Amino acid sequence: MLQFIRNRASVELLSRSFRKYNVPESSGQLLQDLGFVHMSMSGVFHLLPLGLRVQDKISKLIQQSMKSVGAAQVSLAHLSSKEVWDRSGRWETSGRELFRLKDRTERELCLAPTHEEDITECIASFVESQKQLPIRVYQIGRKYRDEARPRGGLLRGKEFVMKDLYTFDVNTHQAQETYRQVLGAYHQFFKAVGLPFSMVNADTGNIGGKLSHEFHYRSAAGEDTICICPSCEFSTNSELLKETTSGTGHCCPSCGDELTLSSSIEVGHAFLLGQAYSAKLGANVEVNKRLEPLYMGCFGIGISRMIAAIATVTKDSKGLVWPMNVAPWKVLVVPTSSKHMQAAESVYDGVAHVVGADNILLEDRSQHSFGYKMKDAELIGYPFVIIVGSQFERQSLCEVHVRATGGRHHLPLQSLHQILL
Ligand code: ATP
Ligand code: MG
Ligand code: MG
Ligand code: MG
Repeated sequence: MLQFIRNRASVELLSRSFRKYNVPESSGQLLQDLGFVHMSMSGVFHLLPLGLRVQDKISKLIQQSMKSVGAAQVSLAHLSSKEVWDRSGRWETSGRELFRLKDRTERELCLAPTHEEDITECIASFVESQKQLPIRVYQIGRKYRDEARPRGGLLRGKEFVMKDLYTFDVNTHQAQETYRQVLGAYHQFFKAVGLPFSMVNADTGNIGGKLSHEFHYRSAAGEDTICICPSCEFSTNSELLKETTSGTGHCCPSCGDELTLSSSIEVGHAFLLGQAYSAKLGANVEVNKRLEPLYMGCFGIGISRMIAAIATVTKDSKGLVWPMNVAPWKVLVVPTSSKHMQAAESVYDGVAHVVGADNILLEDRSQHSFGYKMKDAELIGYPFVIIVGSQFERQSLCEVHVRATGGRHHLPLQSLHQILL
């Protein structure tokens, strides 16, 4: 049988120890205190092992959803030239949010805040025939925006990780079909993450375009307001509604009913861009003997922001509560004392076959007491903690704590899959 190299808390966790700890109001502070992230300066964060694991879990779910719409992964350079931004016209219009710099030859550059320009210039050099379409490429990478007010830790950083997908179609009809498919994949992705979300109509902003939707998590920590009609399908970001109502009362423009307003966090954004970028950057194909600019879409998900948003939405008085599919580790195995370590290792091996070798962690830190480890597990928010002690040695029973419900179960090893899956 394949032998696992066990994941050990003494190796995997970079966390400080505190005797008395009161869970702070801010989940951003909690993520820092528990060793998910470390703030290097305002708006800039290092990801530590726990935070990186959550980011990787979210990224894996996104990769599956991108595969489902036939998108290929790329990795575009973070340095972007002024020339390409001049061609789209956004060097002038981007203002102070764009990080601008010069190389030693005085060539002007920016740290890319988004990649419409670079990807369109790149695709323009490859596309020759409409038979190559549709083209769908995405990346998971860092973005740079000199935000005026970085806040909420990873919620709004100056450097952050985003998934951005760019699509290229031959006509508006095909581009709309692509847009519909990607929104479908986004729904699947957000369902897999496991938290309630809302899709709303959105402003197309400085990126330009014709149609736009955002995905939001409701939270008092959010900087946006979404307006949802309880009676019909209508839903919108308030940024759009401001333009259409007088400011007194918020009535549904579709059915007239009163809209429900909630603070929310924007975690994803989809744009049907049309031909603006492809026309300016020369991404054309021949259609009926004429050069026709490609029809584009772009689709972002804020991965760093999602880490903070999920933590914010699920946090309770005892700490973080990770949904199963994005938890840094799904299961923590804790021996009640060092004399039960061997038994804990055998439970670990059995459970690893059920949940996967990458989803389970063994609590082997010798500097902490059992009580401390249990408190720490609750703060970090592993979905399941399996306790292995004398009850296991005597009756072969494990004690399982379920973080989300507070449930306690006593089960033999071979029955654990009933609650872990
Ligand atoms: P916001 O309105 O919050 O400033 P945005 O509309 O400018 O966001 P987009 O250009 O739509 O952001 O980028 C796509 C996604 O990237 C957003 O939906 C969000 O999840 C994420 N994002 C944007 N800016 C930041 C940031 N400064 N820090 C972390 N994530 C961000
Ligand atoms: Mg912004
Ligand atoms: Mg926005
Ligand atoms: Mg947006």
